[in-house]
Amino acid sequence: MARTDAIVLGAGIVGTSIALHLAKRGMSVALVDRAGLGEQTSYGNAGIIEGNTVFPPAFPADLGALPRIALKRAAEANYHLSFLPKVAPWILAFRRASQPKRLVETAHLIRPLFSHALAEHEALMLETDATRYLRKTGWLKLYRSARGYKALQPEFDLAAEFGLPLQRLDTQGVRALEPSLKPVFAHAVFWPQAASVSNPLAVTRAYAARFAALGGVTVTGDARSLHRSGDRWRVETNEGGLDAPEVVVALGPWARDLLDPMGLKLPLAVKRGYHRHFKARGNAALARPVLDATPGYLITPMEQGIRMTTGAEFAARDAAPTPVQFDRIMPRARELFPLGERADGETWLGCRPCFPDSRPVIGRAPGRPGLWLAIGHSHWGLTLGPATGRLIAEMMAGDPTFCDPAPYRAERFL
Ligand SMILES: Cc1cc2nc3c(=O)[nH]c(=O)nc-3n(C[C@H](O)[C@H](O)[C@H](O)COP(=O)(O)OP(=O)(O)OC[C@H]3O[C@@H](n4cnc5c(N)ncnc54)[C@H](O)[C@@H]3O)c2cc1C
Repeated sequence: MARTDAIVLGAGIVGTSIALHLAKRGMSVALVDRAGLGEQTSYGNAGIIEGNTVFPPAFPADLGALPRIALKRAAEANYHLSFLPKVAPWILAFRRASQPKRLVETAHLIRPLFSHALAEHEALMLETDATRYLRKTGWLKLYRSARGYKALQPEFDLAAEFGLPLQRLDTQGVRALEPSLKPVFAHAVFWPQAASVSNPLAVTRAYAARFAALGGVTVTGDARSLHRSGDRWRVETNEGGLDAPEVVVALGPWARDLLDPMGLKLPLAVKRGYHRHFKARGNAALARPVLDATPGYLITPMEQGIRMTTGAEFAARDAAPTPVQFDRIMPRARELFPLGERADGETWLGCRPCFPDSRPVIGRAPGRPGLWLAIGHSHWGLTLGPATGRLIAEMMAGDPTFCDPAPYRAERFL
C-alpha cells in the first residue's frame, strides 16, 4: 500500500496546477487520472486566459434570442429536447443568477480570483518553459448589431471601476490589429490585457512535467474507487491502492460521478461545446482570439490551425455529439475570415463544468474531513487553473490565502 500526503483526482489544467502547487510546498503528491494528462476539457478549449472577465456568461436578456434558440436557429446555443426536463432546475437557477444585480454581485465575487489568473500562469510558465505558448495579444470581440453593443454599457462601467482597460474600435481600428478580418461587424471592443495560449494541452503537460520533476507521481486509476480506509482516503489505481489523509477532487465535468454516490449533491451541470480546426486561405492570419458575438462563436489561432469553438449546448454529458451549430455558424464565419479547408479529421466535443451562479467550488468538502473540491470552473478553467492551484494549496497548508476563498465554498448550495 503506497502512501502520500495528498492525492489529486483528475489531471486536467485544474488538477495538474493543484498537484504542482502542492508539490512546490514540499508535499508528496499523487495525481490520478483514468486518461492522459490534460486530454479532456483542458485540451479543447479556446485557449484564452481571460483574467479581465467582468460578467459571467448569462441567460439571454435579449428577448429576440430566446425564440431563435427555442427554434434551434441560434448559433450561440443548442439543446437536446429530451434533456430539458432534467436540466430545467439548473437553467432556472442560472436565469435567477443572471439578473443584472446578481451579475454585478458575481463580478465582484470572482474578481479577486480572476485578477491573479494571468500572473499565476506566468509564474508557472516561467518554471516550466511554457512561456513559448503564451500570447499577450489581448482578445477582440466583434458586434454586428448596435443593440448587442449598446447592451455592453454596464460591463464597460464595471470594467472602469475594476481598472480594466478596454478599447472601443471601429472597423479600421480592428483591421489595424487583424488585417485578415472583413468589416462585416459594426462595433468592436479590444481587451488588451487578456492573454491566450497556442496549445492548451502542451501547457498542462508542461505543468505536469514540472510536477514530476519535483517528485510528484502520476498514476492511472478510477477516482470512483475513492473510499475511507481508517483515518485516510484510499483510491485504487493500476499500481495498487493509494492512501492519503487529504484528497482533492478536480474531476471537472465528471465530479458528480464521485460526489453524488457519496451523498454530496451539488448543482453541477455541463454546457457542452465543440471545436474544429481550419486552415487559413492564402496569407490570412490571426494574432489573437476573436469573438463574433452574434452569431456567437470564437476563432483563435492554435498550433493546429484556426480553432473555431462553439457556444453552449444543453445536453446530457455523455450523449452523442450533435455539432449542428457549425451549420449555422460557418456562412457567417466565412464572411468574417477567409477560412480554408478543415485541418483536422473530426469535431471535438467538450463539457464546461458549470454551477448556476458561475462561480467554481474551491475548498473543503462539507462534512468530509480531508476531502477538498476544486470543480465547476465553467468557461474559465484554463484561465483559473493555476490561481485555483495556489489558493487550494494555501488553504490545505493553513497559510494566509491570496484572496478570500469564502465566495467559492460548496456550502452555498447546501
Ligand atoms: C468549447 C470550449 C471552449 C473553452 N474555452 C475556454 C477558454 O478559452 N478559456 C478558459 O479559461 N476556459 C475555457 N473553457 C473551459 C475550460 O476548458 C474548462 O473549464 C477546464 O478545462 C476544466 O478543467 P478541469 O481540469 O476542471 O477539467 P478536465 O480538463 O475535464 O479534467 C478532468 C479530468 O478528470 C479525469 N477524470 C474524469 N473522471 C475520472 C475518473 N472516474 N477517474 C479518474 N479520472 C477521471 C478526466 O480524464 C480529466 O483528465 C472552454 C471549454 C469548452 C468546452
